[in-house]
Amino acid sequence: MGKQLRYFKLNTGTEIPSLGLGTYSGAAPPGVVGDAVTTAVKIGYRHIDCAKIYVNENEIGHALKKLFAEGVVKREDLWITSKLWCTDHLPEDVPTALDRTLQDLQLDYVDLYLIHWPASMKKESKGKPEDLTKPDIPSTWKAMEALYDSGKARAIGVSNFSSKKLGDLLEIARVPPAVNQVECHPIWQQPKLHAFCKTRGVHLSGYSPLGSATKNHRVLENPTVNMVAQKFGKTPAQVALCWGLQMGHSVLPKSINETRLKENFDVFEWCIPEDLLAKLSEIKQERLTKGSEFVHEKFGAYRTLEEFWDGEI
Ligand code: NDP
Repeated sequence: MGKQLRYFKLNTGTEIPSLGLGTYSGAAPPGVVGDAVTTAVKIGYRHIDCAKIYVNENEIGHALKKLFAEGVVKREDLWITSKLWCTDHLPEDVPTALDRTLQDLQLDYVDLYLIHWPASMKKESKGKPEDLTKPDIPSTWKAMEALYDSGKARAIGVSNFSSKKLGDLLEIARVPPAVNQVECHPIWQQPKLHAFCKTRGVHLSGYSPLGSATKNHRVLENPTVNMVAQKFGKTPAQVALCWGLQMGHSVLPKSINETRLKENFDVFEWCIPEDLLAKLSEIKQERLTKGSEFVHEKFGAYRTLEEFWDGEI
């Protein structure tokens, strides 16, 4: 791998930076995330992963505006992703949701707009079980395609889609999804989904590449990850990120700490050797983000997690 940030080619012909900054608000709250974005861009990050539900796009927008005004980076050199929340799945709500995101981010377009989850909820609801509604992905996707046609979303994609749900969407899509953003790290490697995405030309982007803040750092404390790190004088986070890059996934680590932002960006000069990749592939697997809030035996379309993930759990 070269020293510089690498890129992966999408089925739109454009290239997505292989490493992006996560901005999930549970751990990057308003008041902090703007500084993290500024620091990250100054370090060299060119990809920011946002979402309406993180309720911090407004603050990220202010940070971006300042970075552009100060000439630190040009808009066209940044990759900005955002996501359609589950309460905005009705076709008439999709363009309004993106307009709100663009207004908050102070941008004319996003580089990538994703359906955040294959689950839908009543408009403006808070996500209680009784708010769940039956998803109609084909009609939501049609509205996403219109955003792609308009140029406000330069690529469109999905998130948290199983191979089955992605396959169903590919059957009916006029514009195929460019990306499926899913949980992916050494403890949840998703080999089946990875292979499926690869054969269908959909780029897999890995979220929670460090195992997430809220999940007890099971990735960073894993003995095999630590063994590889110690052998090469790397940190467990660098091993987890290099693993993702070598698998061909873009990775979206979140940090609000300058030292860790630098550490996470320092991953383009080294490769995990084949024999140790094989050792990493033997790690016991566990999905950390289960999406239980989208499953209920009475409401919505999915009654069990098994059904929600189409068995990929
Ligand atoms: P990550 O796997 O990125 O882990 C973040 C945690 O790791 C934070 O506690 C952070 O703390 C810590 N950390 C960061 N760097 C290091 C390091 N080098 N060493 C030790 N600890 C470190 O978790 P996320 O769940 O935030 O996932 C990343 C991003 O993926 C999200 O922010 C979001 O953008 C996206 N995402 C998308 C989802 C979806 O449904 N599409 C779902 C979940 C995430 P600190 O900040 O203090 O460094």
